[in-house]
Amino acid sequence: MSRRLIVLGATGSIGASALDVAAELGERIEVVGLSCNGSWRELAALASRWRPAAVAIADEAAWREARASGAFGEEVRLLAGATGLVELAAGGDADIVLNGIVGAAGLEATLAALGAGRRVALANKESLVVGGELVAAVLGRRILERGMLLPVDSEHSAIWQLLAGKRTEEVRRIILTASGGPFRRTPAEALARVTPAQALAHPTWDMGPKITIDSATLANKGLEVIEAHHLFGLPYERIDVVVHPQSIVHGLVEWTDGALFAELGAPDMRAPIRTALAWPERAIGPPAVALAELSGLTFEAPDLHRFPALALARAAGQAGGTAPAVFNAANEVAVALFLEGAVGFPDIAGLCGRVLDRHATHPVDSLATLMEADRWAREETRSLGSRRPSAATRS
Ligand code: MG
Repeated sequence: MSRRLIVLGATGSIGASALDVAAELGERIEVVGLSCNGSWRELAALASRWRPAAVAIADEAAWREARASGAFGEEVRLLAGATGLVELAAGGDADIVLNGIVGAAGLEATLAALGAGRRVALANKESLVVGGELVAAVLGRRILERGMLLPVDSEHSAIWQLLAGKRTEEVRRIILTASGGPFRRTPAEALARVTPAQALAHPTWDMGPKITIDSATLANKGLEVIEAHHLFGLPYERIDVVVHPQSIVHGLVEWTDGALFAELGAPDMRAPIRTALAWPERAIGPPAVALAELSGLTFEAPDLHRFPALALARAAGQAGGTAPAVFNAANEVAVALFLEGAVGFPDIAGLCGRVLDRHATHPVDSLATLMEADRWAREETRSLGSRRPSAATRS
């Protein structure tokens, strides 16, 4: 049976992995839609390879260039901007929308796809971090049960596979693993001097720049704790994080009788994508990791003193309402400022903490409420970040 697939964020790291898997699954997958933010030339190359019926280019200036270039030919519908993205995600005749968009920009597309009855393979964790309450409003409280949301984040895919059909009442806790990033052993006082290039050199996973920096600060794991809370319907005190530098164990479930289950695999995003695209069947993939060749798997508690973003994200998740959206937006801007060299590495979490402190959390009743919180947090972070708050945040 062939499945019609739309890949959002097709020119990014997740998009490349998704199209690798689509190629591998051959006849079982038909690519019917692709999107990018601004990289329209790369998108045109993908479109000539995959021949989708429609593509969306989120950046409108890029869309105008693409249209003028004629690079997409006559047969492809060329959709523009955020509305074009939503139209692509909700329109046509796709079975699965794989959302590989980076950041909060992915939320509207997830809501549109789910609203149109499409199954969503979710790599855009911000859809749940920022919009978890709205997604739950579309899908109902137990958002996994209807099978409309397929987790693609490796940790969540692992736990989803382990839980398969079991009741969360039988789960004592779930555990997300974190690699610990490139600064796992870096002393606190040296973190102020680390460069973007050092932060971008992830020891195990090969990913896009935003998530790689988030892995170095552990903000990524904090976002994943919030994502897990919404996906699995578990309270925060039953979601733990353990640092596991080899990135072989992706997630664990401790059952109420003390049995601990783990999922193991090479750190390769194609694995959770393969699982999601073939679900509920199993695809034919590469062999499992060779256990005898592993040099040893180690686990340690995360250091919340050196990596405060993890605790900040968890606290934002627990506060609920607009707080996770504010944390996420502040972090997106702070990461961009760090990559531009405008602020230091510890300032990323420092800025998130300061912006959260200034925010009066309120309930989420609509996408507009979230968008306003997101906009406020971005502005606030930019303004605090441009004042170079090093003394305040590096203390
Ligand atoms: Mg992950």
